Amino acid sequence: MEQYIYNRYAVYLKKHYGQKVYKLPVHIPVSCPNRKNGRYGCTYCGQKGAGLEQKSDAFSVDGQLKQNMKYISKRYKAEKFIAYFQSFTNTYLHLEEFQKYMEQAVQQNIVEIAVSTRPDCIREEYLKVLKKISEKSGVEITVELGLQTANYHSLEKINRGHTLAEYIEACLLIKQYGFHLCTHIILNLPYDENIDVIESAKLVSVMKNDYVKLHSLYIEKGTKMAEEYAKGLFEICSVEEYKERVKLFLEYISPDIWIQRLLGRAPEEDTLFSNWGQSWWKIRDEIEQEMIIENRYQSKKFHYLGGKGVKEFF
Ligand code: SF4
Repeated sequence: MEQYIYNRYAVYLKKHYGQKVYKLPVHIPVSCPNRKNGRYGCTYCGQKGAGLEQKSDAFSVDGQLKQNMKYISKRYKAEKFIAYFQSFTNTYLHLEEFQKYMEQAVQQNIVEIAVSTRPDCIREEYLKVLKKISEKSGVEITVELGLQTANYHSLEKINRGHTLAEYIEACLLIKQYGFHLCTHIILNLPYDENIDVIESAKLVSVMKNDYVKLHSLYIEKGTKMAEEYAKGLFEICSVEEYKERVKLFLEYISPDIWIQRLLGRAPEEDTLFSNWGQSWWKIRDEIEQEMIIENRYQSKKFHYLGGKGVKEFF
C-alpha cells in the first residue's frame, strides 16, 4: 500500500465526484481593484493577472468551455469538468454581469464553478448569486482567495492592497454560504521565514479551508518584482529551502484540507526566474520522496487548536 504523505486533490475529486474531473480555465474581461486608479497591483502580478495558463477572453464563456471540453474529453477521456474563472479578480465587476457569466458556466458535464478572487472583493450579493445558481442547477461552488502569506508585513511589501482582516472576513462569509474554500499561498516570498510558513498553515486550517494551492514564487518579466530582482534588492531562497517549507506547511495543516498543488508553474519565456530552472513535477516528486524517507506527513504537527493551553484539565 502506498504510504500516506498528504491529501491529494485528484484523489478527492475522484472520491467526491466518482470519476476524474478536470478544471477548465475560463477567462472573462475583468480587471482588479489593485491595478486601478494608479495602483500597480501586487509586485509580482503580470499582464495576465497571475493566470498564465488562460485562454483568450475573445470567446464567450460558453465558447471557451465547449472548446476546452472537446479537447480535454478527447485527450483524457474526461466526462466531468470544473469551470475555473482563474485570472485577475472575477468578482470585480457589476453584479448583473457577474451573474450572467456565472450562469453561462452552467452546462452539461460542468459539476462545479470555481471563482478566483481577492479577499477584499467578497460581498454577500455575489455569494447570493452563486448560491442561487448552485441551488437551481446542483453545480457546486468553490471560491479561491489569493492571500499568499499570513505575514501582514509581507502583504504590504508585495503591495497586496489588503491585510489579514479582509481575508478572515471573506473566509467567514464564504463558509456561511456552504461553499468550498481554497486559499493560494506563496511559500517563498523573499520576506518570509519558516515561522511565517507555519503561521500560514495554521491560518488556513483555522479558517476551515477545504483546499490549498501552494505556489513557488516566479518572477514574471515586466513586473515591479522583476525590477527589484534585477537590482538585486532581494534573493530567492534555494530549492532545498523551498522543499523544506512545503514539508513544514504540510505538517501543520489540518487533515481536512486537500492540496491542489505543491508549487506553481510558468512558461520560461515569460519569466526571469521560475522553479530554479527545473520542472515543477521533478521538485514535487523529490518533496514526496523525501517526506517518505524523513517520516513527515500532513498534519503531523496539527495539535495547536482546541484550547491547547487547558488540555491537561480534560
Ligand atoms: S490580486 Fe491578482 S490580479 Fe490583482 S494585482 Fe494581485 S495578482 Fe494581480
